[in-house]
Amino acid sequence: MNIQEKNNMKVFPLFILILLMYSLQSYSLTIDSIKYNSVVEKFGQLSISGNKIVDKNGNPVVLRGMSLFWSQLMGKYYNYECIKWLRDDWKCTIVRASMGIEEADGKWGYMKNPDEEFNKIKTVIEAAIDLGIYVIVDWHDHNAHNHAELAIDFFKKIASRYGDKPNLIYEIYNEPMKVSWIEDVKPYAEEVIKNIRKIDPDNLIIVGTTTWSQDVDIAAETPLDFNNIIYALHFYAASHKQELRDKARIALAKNITLFVSEFGTCEYTGSGYLDYEETEKWIDFLEKNYISWCNWSIADKKETSAALNVLGKPYGKWLDNDLTDSGKFIRNKIKSLNNVIFNSIKID
Ligand code: MG
Repeated sequence: MNIQEKNNMKVFPLFILILLMYSLQSYSLTIDSIKYNSVVEKFGQLSISGNKIVDKNGNPVVLRGMSLFWSQLMGKYYNYECIKWLRDDWKCTIVRASMGIEEADGKWGYMKNPDEEFNKIKTVIEAAIDLGIYVIVDWHDHNAHNHAELAIDFFKKIASRYGDKPNLIYEIYNEPMKVSWIEDVKPYAEEVIKNIRKIDPDNLIIVGTTTWSQDVDIAAETPLDFNNIIYALHFYAASHKQELRDKARIALAKNITLFVSEFGTCEYTGSGYLDYEETEKWIDFLEKNYISWCNWSIADKKETSAALNVLGKPYGKWLDNDLTDSGKFIRNKIKSLNNVIFNSIKID
């Protein structure tokens, strides 16, 4: 055996050893990275720490997903298959069920059709629990402080049925309008929260702020004295820009937690032009500040905030051409930002 052959003999086992170590390492990486069966199994019971939402281990969490449209108008999307598609294809970690209360576009919500609307919300909550994602139960009302009894009764039912599930997030007043935080919204919120907390001591509760959930700075001056409370911040990117982000900054500095439970890529009307540049600025701001969000909305209405073209496909399985410009843009955002989360989850 010459020297060259001797060296080859040494190199060969070393090569095998390195190969073996490498494959063992990648095997353990695979085992290591797929740890959970669902999003909710990964993050568990959420709570508030400082101005952030944190998971069961105290680490900050950012949830990103879609809001459904007013339940009395787009109830067709309140089904299991649609929610499953939003998880599997859009990679949503959260969906928002927006239960209409009063009349909108000529159709009454929960006030006149309580059973019909309740059943839609129940379907979405139970789908989210089964699919292991988070779900916001949104009292989609602009005058909730005038319907406190009705809201209390509803949220007591929801808390009794689902308050022990980590999936559930309450949103008790979508968008108060030009009313007073101190005199109208806060007393309403205190009554509703008191009743929820008697049944469910811990799940997150989102409270709308005045001027269509923009005055988070005003809420931050006299916040609610309960645990795990979040304040809603809503924006429509073509209308609300740096001045609203400045209000959010003031609120965060006072150590309250914000949730963008609704936003559009378009004008405040829910339609008009799409402002991609401003939407990018907003999403950047939200990511930097660990603020969770839901985009408005899963609907096939003829308005630019709708994610779907008018097509009557209520069960998901949407093709690229079924999505509007806003729908395509937002789906890409959710998919890319939530990718790292879904990489650690095994979904059947
Ligand atoms: Mg609970």
